[in-house]
Amino acid sequence: MRYFIALVVCFSLIIPNFTSKAFAGEQENVYERRMELYKRVEAVTNLPWYYMAAIDQYERSIRLARKDLPKAEGLSGIYFRPEEWAGLLNPDIQDTNPVSIQFFNGIGFDGNGDGKADVRDDEDVLHAFAQYLLTYGTDHDNIKIGLWNYYKRDKTVGIIIGKAKIYKHFGRLDLEQHAFPVPLRSNHSYKNTWGDARGWGGRRIHEGTDIFAGYGVPVRATGYGIVEMKGWNRFGGWRVGIRDINNTYHYFAHLSGFAKDLQVGQVVEPGQVIGGVGSSGYGPPGTSGKFPPHLHYGMYKDNGYTEWSFDPYPHLRLWSREERARLKKG
Ligand SMILES: [Zn+2]
Repeated sequence: MRYFIALVVCFSLIIPNFTSKAFAGEQENVYERRMELYKRVEAVTNLPWYYMAAIDQYERSIRLARKDLPKAEGLSGIYFRPEEWAGLLNPDIQDTNPVSIQFFNGIGFDGNGDGKADVRDDEDVLHAFAQYLLTYGTDHDNIKIGLWNYYKRDKTVGIIIGKAKIYKHFGRLDLEQHAFPVPLRSNHSYKNTWGDARGWGGRRIHEGTDIFAGYGVPVRATGYGIVEMKGWNRFGGWRVGIRDINNTYHYFAHLSGFAKDLQVGQVVEPGQVIGGVGSSGYGPPGTSGKFPPHLHYGMYKDNGYTEWSFDPYPHLRLWSREERARLKKG
């Protein structure tokens, strides 16, 4: 069963919004069962469920993005190294005895009350992390301090806190739907140019896809996420950066302007207008018109250490297909 769930989880991440009905049902079930787990931890510890959901999702995402970590097999994505779980000096690295684990200062914990602290048990794993955070406190600021001491990386703490805000805002875990960045009915065109010699708004190589459209055509958030950046850059012009729940950063450049009231820290949903297509950039703030109006759309993945650009083109194709299918269904 465990293996089956892991397969389902993996597949859902490789092929988002897979259309098979049976599959969709299974996936829904995974979200429900995860939510049950988070709520059970909340009931015992008073740690709001959305923080546990955010930590769990962060860890799940980095495990998918990295080769040095084993893939998540259960409902929870949190990974503890065996020696971290059992305690550094514990001679039994597979120890499941809560008493000896505690004696050796391991993080392992018996969360489901079966007398064993089992690193393969989802409830034990989530409770272990929760117990660690409890040593700091259950309010926002202390959770942040606890996270910083655990990960020792500002960006990771920021990403997790952002996810918690997204989950709290929507009150659910299923936030995988996407939208195409400009309205499908607008006149637009794009080609696969990722990796070409630098175009407009890329970094070293062309780190994105240019979607050509008329000046002022609405630019929309492509997923559920949080606005991480908004402002001017000499090359990118007016830009917005949005982080989704899979640690992916979505970058929108050369905008004509921003949606009214759009703010850093704001939670957005797929299809929400964030600005307009423009030709800003390549000069001091306000410079515009040095090239034809287009949206530069980039995607970046964070793996807990570093962030890299990947090709948005296949995703754009998929999202436009999916959105068309949704519109058809009505
Ligand atoms: Zn570009």
